[in-house]
Amino acid sequence: MTQSARKYEPLNHHDSSIRLLRLLPGRWIDSIHCELQTVSLDDNPAYDALSYVWGNPQKKAPIIIDRSPVEATKNLIAALRRLRSSIDVKVLWVDAICINQADNNEKTHQIGMMARIYKSAADVQVFLGESGVLDLIPEEEQALWDEPPKLCWVRDVTMLIQTEHPPQKVGLDSRGVIIDYLEYVKSLKLHSDPGYEPVNVEKFPMWAIWEPEGGLDKTDQKRVDEFFARQQDAAHDQIGELSPLQRLRDNQAGAFAIMKMLSNGRCLKTCCRGPLDSPAWTGALEVLEHLISQPWWSRAWVLQEAILPQRDVLAIYSEITVPMGLIEDSGAILPRHYERGDCCKRFWNSLPQRQKGTLQAFAYPTGQLEGIRETLSSLKMKEIEMLKYLLNKTRFKEATDPRDKVYGLLGLLTNCDEPTNLTADYNLSTKDLYIKIAMQMTNFSQSLSILHHHELPSSPIASDLPSWVPCWGPTYGSLTPFQIGERTVNFRAWPPSPDNMLHLAIDTTLYPDALVVEGKFVSKITAITHSTTNSPNISFLDRLNSLETFFRVDHLTGNPFALYPFTSPPEPITASFARTLLSDQVFEISYAFKSGQVVFERAFPGDVQMFRLAQQILHAQEVGQELVLILPDGTVMDDEAKAHVVRHAEENFWYANEGRVFFQTAEGHFGSGPRETKVGDEAWIVLGSLVPLVLRRAAEGDDYRELVGYGYVHGIMDGEAVPGADREGKREVYLV
Ligand SMILES: [Zn+2]
Ligand SMILES: [Zn+2]
Repeated sequence: MTQSARKYEPLNHHDSSIRLLRLLPGRWIDSIHCELQTVSLDDNPAYDALSYVWGNPQKKAPIIIDRSPVEATKNLIAALRRLRSSIDVKVLWVDAICINQADNNEKTHQIGMMARIYKSAADVQVFLGESGVLDLIPEEEQALWDEPPKLCWVRDVTMLIQTEHPPQKVGLDSRGVIIDYLEYVKSLKLHSDPGYEPVNVEKFPMWAIWEPEGGLDKTDQKRVDEFFARQQDAAHDQIGELSPLQRLRDNQAGAFAIMKMLSNGRCLKTCCRGPLDSPAWTGALEVLEHLISQPWWSRAWVLQEAILPQRDVLAIYSEITVPMGLIEDSGAILPRHYERGDCCKRFWNSLPQRQKGTLQAFAYPTGQLEGIRETLSSLKMKEIEMLKYLLNKTRFKEATDPRDKVYGLLGLLTNCDEPTNLTADYNLSTKDLYIKIAMQMTNFSQSLSILHHHELPSSPIASDLPSWVPCWGPTYGSLTPFQIGERTVNFRAWPPSPDNMLHLAIDTTLYPDALVVEGKFVSKITAITHSTTNSPNISFLDRLNSLETFFRVDHLTGNPFALYPFTSPPEPITASFARTLLSDQVFEISYAFKSGQVVFERAFPGDVQMFRLAQQILHAQEVGQELVLILPDGTVMDDEAKAHVVRHAEENFWYANEGRVFFQTAEGHFGSGPRETKVGDEAWIVLGSLVPLVLRRAAEGDDYRELVGYGYVHGIMDGEAVPGADREGKREVYLV
């Protein structure tokens, strides 16, 4: 939000006063005229709230407010033009204009009312941006418009019924749509097996769909069918007979047809009815990509604006108006088709990389929005936990003022238990705010789990913050902060116990904000590998072989009886090697969640064997040997099963290690750590952290360390190194 040079009458802070913008009627090409009006929320004023991004502050033009010109960004002006009626006054709440940005106290007070402002709005209109149609319509033609053409898409009231069982034929039509709901429900009851069984993907989607009486919206269905026809028509636009405007409009329709199909539970593969390079298909994906690359999706602030309203939120993308829920559903459900389930996996694998990238880019922010909405409505969390959850979810979002990454979420915390009284305060510095919430989180959770992440050190505020305070900025690797959290709780390197609680304090003797923790030095890191990044130039087998060399564990020529000394009882070093490469964990997909979710478990001996088997299979393939493997039931493992073992091993390896390094310590521990790890860093266990930490000596002070990140050290992950009753080796260490 940026300051607009305008005189504001101060608002009365004590009667829920807000300002509303009255957008005066005008024809399309007229300049924007408005009036400001002060009202009290207590009087239930009628207004719509606008959700938009301020946009490039260099690109400004004047609008008229109360007869005087005020500078507004081109993006805001574009939004107002799309919202303006040629007949009626539109009453809107627009943050940058309705709040006096130059008055920190007013800002603090109004931001504190955001939740109420958005919840009380009749409608919330999200302006995503312009698609480019206006550039293709001559100005003389636009000059004739009272209002611009508008296209609406609707969200059908279908119901996707999650089922852990293959839908039975009874009660379902050939598209997997439920004909008779009661009959269908009865058919489900026949099953007693609670486990997940893969659906017969050739015949059915992964869930059953219930369509409303009267079917789907006719206008939309017609546009969907036309999109299919364009894909199948080999001659369609091959000679470029379409005008650029018509082509863009067709592509827009194609993009929304895909969203429509997906949100109604249809498979991704059924959206594509022609060749993968048909202009209709690729054009639709281009629009999808353009839509999702609009800055609205990357700003932290607008999240609450889309989530808070009680009613449907409408998205405006150029001349198209669509319920936000339609976009959200379609993207959120998408990974289920290509990632979790098998239904569209083959189709997905056949897509060119560029098309996969577009669809993934579309799935990410939409899924995130949907996920947050679901969590807020279904999970009851304490306020500080919810703040941590939301900050983790919005790590990739941007805010011009880093404090807004936090303040923009406060409106979403209003229904939580145990309020922390955290309020927007623009007189508090970014550093003090981030330290304050980090301390609240550690004290609340009695854990140092906020230290476990793969945060990029490139965040602009990282250099201002102590190493133990998260910047809540982007992370690297494919593990989400939640997955990291889930992986760390599988360990007990040094858990707090009721008689060994965390008493965290900040020390200011040598550094301004040192966090005092209890720790125990384990060993110094004496050798590291390069960071593990997936590259087509190195095969998985080569990677495993070079790690064997690094750890000096050669499964072919090495001593087969060598033992790893840090486990009790000592285990064969080849098993320790495999466990280190897995961080002793394997993944599984849980269908307890709407879209299927990856969960992690500790590796069993069988998992370790499978990992080693993968290496043997790859080795045999390389030297051209036939590796005959007899399964417990006496049958021989076929090539497909072997490929599965290899794929599983690889996936587990990447979950554990993407972007990270392996290390060895002076005493010979095998381990892995963040990619910033250097030789000379130290492995520690710290009270309150379930996994070891990699720490680095600070410039000054014997007991001062910088946090490098969390680590895996084989043989000390289950409390083996915890100081005993004699408290040997335990000491205070200061994280700076
Ligand atoms: Zn007040
Ligand atoms: Zn599918």
